[in-house]
Amino acid sequence: MTRPDDIQLDPLLSAEQIERRVGELAGEIAAVYGDAPVVLVPILSGSLIFVSDLVRKLPMDMVIELCGLSSYRDGETPGQLRWTLGPPRNLDGRHVLVVDDIVDTGATLGRVVDTIARQQPASVRTCTLLLRTGADRSDPVADTEVDFEGFRIGRGFVVGYGLDYDGRFRNRPGISVVRRDEDET
Ligand code: 5GP
Ligand code: MG
Repeated sequence: MTRPDDIQLDPLLSAEQIERRVGELAGEIAAVYGDAPVVLVPILSGSLIFVSDLVRKLPMDMVIELCGLSSYRDGETPGQLRWTLGPPRNLDGRHVLVVDDIVDTGATLGRVVDTIARQQPASVRTCTLLLRTGADRSDPVADTEVDFEGFRIGRGFVVGYGLDYDGRFRNRPGISVVRRDEDET
């Protein structure tokens, strides 16, 4: 797909593939928690669409505590982590499930889990729609385990289904890889 600003989007995951996998993930999550009530902690803004689909497929009693942790991204370049909402509080004795859109280095998820773990929750688990393989997880806070993962993807910056490029493309129903002309060899 060609755009006036020379950004090309190469389809990676269709809306149908995502919907099917989100349903399976909900089943995996429900099997682990059973009837136990859960505090779901979505990391905004990228997980917005994913979490809204996921929660409607989860049967257990839950509350949703939004948090926002942004890495001052300028397009694709990560920077310093900063809370834009939260951090989540009052989690002692609760079962907490952190939900993110994509785990790349793991620094974002690691920071959220770290903050929650210090509040003596009954448990803290993690769920991500996308897990990038071969990413640099050398950051010490970033060896956080992912309990539930939707898809493994390789290199390439992805957009759609909540994921953005400079704020754009979150509303696209499928997930695509961004390719700019300068990427071509
Ligand atoms: P990490 O802290 O694991 O390196 O990066 C996680 C965050 O960076 C994600 O929550 C997401 O907001 C952003 N991110 C990482 N890779 C991508 C990508 O390919 N596309 C988009 N849109 N965001 C990404
Ligand atoms: Mg994010």
